[in-house]
Amino acid sequence: MNNRISSIFSIALLFTLLSSQAVNAEYYDNARADEIYQKFELVNYNEKEVDALLAEYKSIIANDDEVRQKLLIRLTCWNQPSETPEELLKAIEYAEQQLLIYAEPYPSEINTDLLLCLGNYKQYAGQLDGALKDLSTAISNAYELESPRLIVDGRSIRGAMQSYQGDYATALEDLITAQHLYEKLNVTYWANDNLNNLAASYRRFGDPETAIKYQMKLEQTYLTSGMLFEADNVNVQIAFSLEELGRLQESTERFYKSLKFWQSKKETNAVASTKVNIAGNLIKQGQVDKALTLLKEAEPHIPVEYDGQHSFLSLFFAEAYFTKNELDNALEHSKKASIDFKRGGNRRGESKNLRLQSQIYYAKGDIENAYKSLTAFLEMHLSLDKQIMSDRNAEMQTRFNTDKVLDENENLLKATTDKELQLQIMQRNESLQIVIIILVAIILIIVSVFAYKQLKRKRKYQNLALTDELTSLSNRRAIYSQSDNFIKHAKLSRQPFSIILFDADHFKQVNDKFGHDIGDKVLVKLASLTMGMMRETDVVGRVGGEEFLVLLPNITHNTAMEIAQRLLDCIANYDWSHIAPDLHQTVSAGVASLENEAELSPLLLKADTALYKAKSAGRNCVKSA
Ligand code: GH3
Ligand code: MG
Ligand code: MG
Repeated sequence: MNNRISSIFSIALLFTLLSSQAVNAEYYDNARADEIYQKFELVNYNEKEVDALLAEYKSIIANDDEVRQKLLIRLTCWNQPSETPEELLKAIEYAEQQLLIYAEPYPSEINTDLLLCLGNYKQYAGQLDGALKDLSTAISNAYELESPRLIVDGRSIRGAMQSYQGDYATALEDLITAQHLYEKLNVTYWANDNLNNLAASYRRFGDPETAIKYQMKLEQTYLTSGMLFEADNVNVQIAFSLEELGRLQESTERFYKSLKFWQSKKETNAVASTKVNIAGNLIKQGQVDKALTLLKEAEPHIPVEYDGQHSFLSLFFAEAYFTKNELDNALEHSKKASIDFKRGGNRRGESKNLRLQSQIYYAKGDIENAYKSLTAFLEMHLSLDKQIMSDRNAEMQTRFNTDKVLDENENLLKATTDKELQLQIMQRNESLQIVIIILVAIILIIVSVFAYKQLKRKRKYQNLALTDELTSLSNRRAIYSQSDNFIKHAKLSRQPFSIILFDADHFKQVNDKFGHDIGDKVLVKLASLTMGMMRETDVVGRVGGEEFLVLLPNITHNTAMEIAQRLLDCIANYDWSHIAPDLHQTVSAGVASLENEAELSPLLLKADTALYKAKSAGRNCVKSA
């Protein structure tokens, strides 16, 4: 195989390797892993299911499958155990460690998601400032990445947190934006969860009617899909809304329903915290003793670290004891509540507590402290009022801005779909390119092989047409055409040009005596003896049966005569008995040199005349024209 073809083969080999590389990427196709990831995206599982799914995910993804390894880290972060304060601290530590590993100068999906995860845990651990900072950074990174899922998760979590703290302005904007986005993205589970938070915000904000409207719908949704934990959560939210509306009995009934649910699940903390909620309700209805019994049952199961639950436990104890005129007990609990409310950043709760505290002091006759608490209450109440005013403005604005939010969300989603589409097209193009390259390579190889074969055949026929089959010398046609070039060149360069025409002597007799085969062998030998004597630039041809022509460019007449004589001597002295015993072969030659001739024929005629002279002179001699 010639070089060209082998190089084409190596190119084809390269392409084959490249395409097998592309096929290798499919090695990362992992349908089960993607299915598991999808489950995590959409539904909240309990701890056992989470552990099993995470373990399976980890076991079926390749070590060098970078994309899914990163997803695993994100899933692991979001699914850390986070019930107890110790677990929360561990979860925070995990998120911080992973963030150090994935710290990058620019936002990436993984560091943004880890930051969200960290902010979420910080919020539950009561590190509210840190949580707000992390969540807000993550959200602005998510916008930079144009990732709707990260944006919506971030804004939903931040909105819920700010709603609990009483920052309705930002809470509502976040939650409404998140609501539209979740619905657009068809992430039903989290859309409902967000709606729950949105409704709670309306209630806290002083609009329990709107809240209850959403909550009733949600409860129905959860009950029909058999999502009992979620249904209970909404039931409790409805109970709070009813309490706010003064429908206390309905509210108590709902809290009792929740109590039954948690008792059946044997969740002691949830049971205790529900009892606290019921107690708050009963106090309002004047059933203080019943409330106190419930609070005492709950107390051992509500550790002080759970500041949200503990704050209301303490506040209700204080209210109950105050009603019963046990003022020292009441004050002690009110002070505990104060610490909890401050720690949890719950200004609504603290405002209520300060008012109660001032009443307790007043009842105790401690007018100074009563005055202090009342002043603090008034200040907080005023600032809360002010905030509620600005929140109302914000709410109005947010409601008016709904169209803007919708537009923004739509653009965001469109950009993301466009990006995904572009990526898909690029990937499709890439595989198409590989296919095209391979096809082109194959076609190139086939065409080249054909071309090569064609070339070889053409050369073979060309050679056949220009060489004498017996002696492999140039045939008459070839040597005549070559002589034209030599004559032209000689004329232009004024160089001499000579020819020798020679003919085997009495060759007919050789055939007659030794047979045609020996005759052929003699002709072949004559050819090789002549070739052996000539220069590379000379051309030897067979121009007739036993007649040969030698073209001698740049050779003068005299030199040509000498060369012819040497050739004759060589042939005459050759030991012809190699071919046949008693065989002797000589040749006669005529030499002619270029004078005024413009082509070969007249020159050949001169050489032929000279050859005739040589024959006449008795053969085995050289003559000139
Ligand atoms: P002269 O010395 O006058 O040239 O005598 P000659 O016999 O060589 O000349 P003539 O032209 O009478 O005979 C030429 C012979 O060469 C006749 C023919 O049979 C023989 N011959 C021509 N071509 C070939 C060939 O290819 N092979 C063989 N074996 N013989 C050939
Ligand atoms: Mg002859
Ligand atoms: Mg002859």
